Amino acid sequence: MEIDKPITVALLAMEQSSFCYKACFRCETPIPNTTPSPTFCNTCNGSPNPFKRLFRLLFSIATDTRVITVVCFDRDARVIFGCSAQQFFDFATQHPDAAKNANHALVGELFRVVLTKPKRGKAEHLRMTSVVPLRTAFQPVIETLKELNQVEQNGDKTA
Ligand SMILES: [Zn+2]
Repeated sequence: MEIDKPITVALLAMEQSSFCYKACFRCETPIPNTTPSPTFCNTCNGSPNPFKRLFRLLFSIATDTRVITVVCFDRDARVIFGCSAQQFFDFATQHPDAAKNANHALVGELFRVVLTKPKRGKAEHLRMTSVVPLRTAFQPVIETLKELNQVEQNGDKTA
């Protein structure tokens, strides 16, 4: 398995319990999950409100040699999801099955990616970057979920 070079991987699963985090609107530093929430940002000293949501996805992937867990951050996650983390968060608020269905939609998808070592020593997972979908008919997760939702609305939900 090569690091820092494009390789082909298959997605096996997406961690569904947590897919995004709150970040400072100005500098995108993660906002600690404390109560009460912090009133200024440690990095830029500005108010962290309004915050924004950024993707942080954990995927189980199969490379040519191994099955590993990787982390995928906002820019690359947007390629897979086709929307911002806030948009997906809002969608998931209305549709509680969104994360589960996203996982279903992604299982088996092939991507060309570059795996990189985390910049900070403490981070435990390789980062999945430069994500390119390989299947010609690939469509971003949000499109699949919207279609699925339309089918549900048109069908008989009580059945
Ligand atoms: Zn900041």
